[in-house]
Amino acid sequence: MSNPAPVLRFAPSPTGLLHVGNARTALYNALFVRRHGGTFILRYDDTDLARSTPEFAAAIAEDLEWLGIPPDRIEHQSKRTDRYDAAVEKLKAIGRLYPAYETEEELEAKRLSRRRRNLPPIYDRAALTLTEADRSRLEAEGRRPHWRFKLDGRHVVWDDLVRGRCDVDTAALSDPVLVREDGTYLYTLPSLVDDIDMSVTHVVRGEDHVTNTGVQIEITEALGATPPAYAHHNLLTLPSGEGLSKRLGHLSLRALRQGGEEALAVAALAVLIGTSLAVEPVADLDTLAGKLDFGKISRAPARFDPEELTALTAATLHHLPYEAVAPRLAALGVGGGETSWLAVRGNLTRLDDALRWWRVVEGPLAPVVALEDAEFLKLAADLLPAEPWDAEVYPRWIAALKPAAGRSGRALFHPLRLALTSEESGPELKALLPLIGRAKAEGRLRGKAG
Ligand code: GLU
Repeated sequence: MSNPAPVLRFAPSPTGLLHVGNARTALYNALFVRRHGGTFILRYDDTDLARSTPEFAAAIAEDLEWLGIPPDRIEHQSKRTDRYDAAVEKLKAIGRLYPAYETEEELEAKRLSRRRRNLPPIYDRAALTLTEADRSRLEAEGRRPHWRFKLDGRHVVWDDLVRGRCDVDTAALSDPVLVREDGTYLYTLPSLVDDIDMSVTHVVRGEDHVTNTGVQIEITEALGATPPAYAHHNLLTLPSGEGLSKRLGHLSLRALRQGGEEALAVAALAVLIGTSLAVEPVADLDTLAGKLDFGKISRAPARFDPEELTALTAATLHHLPYEAVAPRLAALGVGGGETSWLAVRGNLTRLDDALRWWRVVEGPLAPVVALEDAEFLKLAADLLPAEPWDAEVYPRWIAALKPAAGRSGRALFHPLRLALTSEESGPELKALLPLIGRAKAEGRLRGKAG
């Protein structure tokens, strides 16, 4: 039987802005689908109604769009409660979900007492011994139950696509609470019910979920379903080593975008650091997808360095083809088409620097003409080739000017640059001169603003 088409999902809670660590997870999912085909689902983990907001949900969709990985499909857990209710009924019917009545304070006291006796601080399953009469009495006191899944207490084993063989001993864990006393769901159950219902084939997420996976595999199997494949990637940290936090707004994609970082550079760095692959600029997401290999992801956390990102943004721009940036250049007000882009891209550290160079081309600018260069520059103006100009006008001009002026090297080129651009350095004059055009170039060489 052939394998089903891959279905992967990125499942953020809309409780904050995505950070680069979230981007890593999203990209690993989306690029897997880009490479192998299938469906990429954006699934909002929005069961926490108090903290989830439509604004954060919209920001997440916008960030994925910016990264170039819009989802094929969007799902909301808050709209799927009936599916979770059905799973709960099934688990109750097979005796795997039981009501417990302890308050948070009582549970804390139990944990303390177990610690004192050198026992692991896990739930003692006292609720399993409650009789019907005990439960009625507790409910008459006004208590509402929360519901725990009765773990098998076994070694749950899977072959992780990143970490190899994984083994979670569920005997060492508390029976997880799946439903709170107010009837709302914790993350654990909705997530796996969705994975079953949506025929998710690969769950790719951070390694902070490894223990959850042991639990979720048990529950998935209790529901009679087959667990998906799992890949738990290492996490990204701040340069200090501190973990990234959505709540604290660390390294949000929004802030990186507003700071002028290129989406393709963010994607390349988020995907390639913490792997055995070289961090390098990529031409497009297909190239990045082609590099993706879960087996090359390291085990240790990886530090995300904003300075490395800034350098990668520049390196990315230096190779970006015109088609990839044309609409953004137009929005910035940069003219000159592909010729202008190719002239300046190698000098950019961020895209909006292109506007600065376009203003140099367009003018008006006040040329910088040193007194001792004025005669030389007049000669240069006189020798400007007649129109029409092509891409080779600059070497033709210099070939004539050099012997006539008896100058070479910096003494030849630097005054030309200062007069034509009023900048000390910048893109090659060979590329700029045809863009500036004869009339403006001549005026600037003769010291006229324009
Ligand atoms: N909302 C969870 C998280 O962002 C989803 C984990 C999962 O992919 O199942 O960590």
